[in-house]
Amino acid sequence: MSSRKFLLAANWKMNPPPAAALENAHGDRSKNPYHPHADIDVVVFPTFLDLQRCIDAGLIVGAQCGHPEATGAHTGDVSMAMLKTAGCRYVLCGHSERRKDHHETDADVAAQAIAALEQKIHPIICIGETLEEREKGQAQIIVKRQLKGLPLESDVTIAYEPVWAIGTGKTATPAQAQEMHAFIRSHLPEDRRESTRILYGGSMKAENAEALLKQKDIDGGLIGGASLKPEEFGKIVEVAERLSAFHLLHP
Ligand code: PEP
Repeated sequence: MSSRKFLLAANWKMNPPPAAALENAHGDRSKNPYHPHADIDVVVFPTFLDLQRCIDAGLIVGAQCGHPEATGAHTGDVSMAMLKTAGCRYVLCGHSERRKDHHETDADVAAQAIAALEQKIHPIICIGETLEEREKGQAQIIVKRQLKGLPLESDVTIAYEPVWAIGTGKTATPAQAQEMHAFIRSHLPEDRRESTRILYGGSMKAENAEALLKQKDIDGGLIGGASLKPEEFGKIVEVAERLSAFHLLHP
């Protein structure tokens, strides 16, 4: 039996939290898909400015990025240590938008993940190839390079996010995603291979969630656009809850 409970990570990027996510903090939580669930893990990633009100609303919260150094001359940055103090339980490391907009390198991403682990924050480490790299047949080479140097012997989550599928409406087919997830799993240290969760990210939505989450090596989703729409996100949560027992029984 697998220990890989589904994890749905709602990446709200530079958007305010959906109003519905902050509702029912002290009422009927079952009406709010963003709240913690029994059979699956649901985590929201608001902007730094919205972290506190999400925590106050009873949500499990992660940060979209964090600096590896604890303090210092890094204008605009927030450290992993500060995120821990603020109540973050998860952090995204190396999202493709950070790699592109902020020139984060593989070495930066590894340093972030190590710093997060030191603070007992769970890192979700994002990797994935661009369209050009896939078309040149280099997808696996890129992913293998991105995995190198990561603290894979520790308790981390990997998010495979083909860059060409993020925010584009184009999704990897379930077979393409499964093939890459299996490849990633085969590169994990043997004693972590079965327990490490590998999420899929890239235009996951209600209509494709079931086919993706049925793949044996897909342990959840890192979801951008669809996570800002409560009804759509609720449907993905329902699919994950329905498939959860099967996923745990058939690793
Ligand atoms: C993401 O933000 O990591 C993401 C996958 O976005 P989207 O679901 O909108 O493609």
